Amino acid sequence: MHLSQATWPEIGARLAAGHTGIVLPIGSHEQHGPTGLIGTDALCPQLIAAEAEKRGDLLVGPTFHIGMAQHHMGFPGSMTLRPSTMIATIVDWTASLVRAGFTRLYWLNGHGGNVATIQAAFAETYAAYSLRGEPAPFAHKLVNWWQLPGIEKLCLAEFPVGHGSHGTASEVAVTYWGWPERAVLGQQVLDPKIAPEGPIRDAADYRARFPDGRIGSDPTQATPEAGGRIVSASADALVSDAAAFFAEASPGLAG
Ligand SMILES: [Zn+2]
Repeated sequence: MHLSQATWPEIGARLAAGHTGIVLPIGSHEQHGPTGLIGTDALCPQLIAAEAEKRGDLLVGPTFHIGMAQHHMGFPGSMTLRPSTMIATIVDWTASLVRAGFTRLYWLNGHGGNVATIQAAFAETYAAYSLRGEPAPFAHKLVNWWQLPGIEKLCLAEFPVGHGSHGTASEVAVTYWGWPERAVLGQQVLDPKIAPEGPIRDAADYRARFPDGRIGSDPTQATPEAGGRIVSASADALVSDAAAFFAEASPGLAG
């Protein structure tokens, strides 16, 4: 079930029956090189969660589309939240869901640059309870989709050379599976074929180091077929990983 396509009585009944977990895809809208879609980091976890929803009894929430991407702002179309804005937004998403009775929030992330901010947001949501001396009635879990069990290995087996760390062959392949008409983008000839590596600082420094936006990758290898294999394996891994988290006992929680 998708939250956005459910009614409130359906969600109320689901919560009353003890199904108090939700999967929240979270990503970013930022340049992904000349062959990758700007929405890649939001679209990958969204596609994987949607596929998992077809295979298991999962509730999937709305995608948190805009993340912390200040370093990509030198490329048109990139959008960012400041870390403080993103933290405040995650705190409000959490409070809304917890008020309704959700107790397990599984955030499936598509952007490495979000991780520090998401973790800080989790700490904000817990601190409100810790400082009052009350047990928090919920728990978060953050998983980068490529770190679902077995997936990093699969991605590197699909693309052993030039997988990279931004505008990666595997994330571009996942989006080409979702939107195969966009796979034509991969016919471009990129120079250099494999992009350089380096540190990530501000937007001007990023644009100077990585002129076409990629880091360490050759995403022209991406195909919809490879993307489909990655989505399928990731969806199966998500169904079991989310189920284990939703069933996890927490000493601070009743039930
Ligand atoms: Zn990405």
